[in-house]
Amino acid sequence: MAPAFERVAVIGVGLIGASIALAARHDANASVALYDADPRVRERARALKLGDAVFDDPQAAVAGADLVVLAVPVGAMAEALEAAAPALKPGVVITDVGSVKGAVVEALSPLAPPHAFLIPGHPIAGTEHSGPDAGFATLFKGRWHILTPLADARPEYAQAVDRLEAFWRALGANVERMDAQRHDVVLAVTSHLPHLIAFNIVAMAEDLESVTESEVVKYSASGFRDFTRIAASDPTMWRDVFIANKDAVLEVLGRFSEDLAVLQRAIRWGDGKTLYELFDRARRMRREVIEAGQDTPAPNWGREN
Ligand code: NAP
Repeated sequence: MAPAFERVAVIGVGLIGASIALAARHDANASVALYDADPRVRERARALKLGDAVFDDPQAAVAGADLVVLAVPVGAMAEALEAAAPALKPGVVITDVGSVKGAVVEALSPLAPPHAFLIPGHPIAGTEHSGPDAGFATLFKGRWHILTPLADARPEYAQAVDRLEAFWRALGANVERMDAQRHDVVLAVTSHLPHLIAFNIVAMAEDLESVTESEVVKYSASGFRDFTRIAASDPTMWRDVFIANKDAVLEVLGRFSEDLAVLQRAIRWGDGKTLYELFDRARRMRREVIEAGQDTPAPNWGREN
């Protein structure tokens, strides 16, 4: 089958950019040009042979590309597109992988040339690792990819969205289209708040003077270590996510704090019924995640200890 895009340029070669480069070459039959602002990352990308070419200049990387993927932190999206824009060819599709969509749409819309098609997106796939060495070609397989197309009435725009969807499907993803605002609320619940809780609980444990750090680490298998995995994610990326998705995060955080106060009261008054009912409801959610194929049913994620 003809590739959805023959020439793909990826700007930002971290976990996500490197994974897209590997998967696009392997599964989407595309030739891939890479650029990263960090010279050490470019060196690593060459050594790892992540793309067909690695450029020292963003405009050289995007020249001739049919698809440009911005895979930089949310706060760097505008700068990345601005630096590449003069070399974009007519008809190019520009997408991104940022974890927040409303702020990215706002930042990129004024910068995309009129002859380009801007289609923001977000792969619901990742790990706690970052950098070019963390990338792997199968990252997107069986995961969701959310596209948040703009209200662009050009008939060619709809065709460009179909092509981008075909590209992500070739990488193994399931694709869904969604409004950017809705995306930001859903992700505030499923991703941003859980990360905030993990960052907070891990930092709090470090601060607690009554428990020594070595005891926290020693007994971490009782639950704490699962938070440390989430809290190991890249601080720059997450700083940008919370600043960019402020409204939705504050909204769900308010709701979370209210519900936490209910739990606090139930514990204080020995209200076992309230505690049991909530824990039981939460446990059912785990089953739904497994049934939806979004995690393994193996006990303890299949870990041996
Ligand atoms: P990463 O591993 O930290 O890689 C980002 C790379 O972009 C870094 O090498 C960075 O260089 C480079 N960069 C920063 N500004 C740039 C610019 N203006 N031009 C070119 N390169 C630039 O990050 P990641 O985890 O791949 O995340 C990338 C994007 O994917 C983020 O928007 C994030 O929200 C989104 N995302 C991440 C995950 C995840 O699990 N990690 C999942 C879904 C979506 P420096 O290090 O020198 O800044």
